[in-house]
Amino acid sequence: MNNIIFFGPPGAGKGTQAKKIAEYLNLPHLSTGDILRSKIQQKDPLSTKLKEIMSAGKLVSDDILNEIVSEKLLSESKKGFILDGYPRTLDQSFFLKNFIKNNSLKISYIFNINIQFDILKERILKRAKEEGRDDDNLNAIEIRYKAYLETTQPVSDEFKINNPENFYEIEGNDEIEQITSKIKKILKKS
Ligand code: AMP
Repeated sequence: MNNIIFFGPPGAGKGTQAKKIAEYLNLPHLSTGDILRSKIQQKDPLSTKLKEIMSAGKLVSDDILNEIVSEKLLSESKKGFILDGYPRTLDQSFFLKNFIKNNSLKISYIFNINIQFDILKERILKRAKEEGRDDDNLNAIEIRYKAYLETTQPVSDEFKINNPENFYEIEGNDEIEQITSKIKKILKKS
């Protein structure tokens, strides 16, 4: 059973890769960004609050995220899972580790996609034109990147230190297909 986490700054392509690998391994792709975006469509009081936070590029509260993820993991992760965009804070990481321990699970692979800020900025602005996401504007990109550096990078650093045997740094500047094949090679090797 494969339980996989994708880390990387916004725009690094972790969503694209997580989706491709989920199809390849036939695992559920749990993208917290996608789940939250679909919650926004429900047009209730929570959705208005979520829309405000997300379009500003800020992080949604840990309580909301931990509830969403535990619900999804309990209902959809019987064969394994791919987490994309979670954990993003130390509190979420603590929650996930407890969940994993309590359910006698293991993290099989952690992929950390690296990319330079200039390239990332260009990519996100291109995606803004193609997908029309509210948080794909320059101001929100800068806030999201700052949140990544300050809050999420310490989480991936900690995973790297404690799981060196299944933590893989991936070059995110490469072409999409090249990155996918590198990840598939790692999956085949071990
Ligand atoms: P993403 O699609 O992963 O870039 O996520 C889009 C937005 O959803 C983020 O900028 C946050 O506002 C929110 N979000 C997604 N995942 C999380 C998380 N694990 N913790 C807090 N906020 C999140």
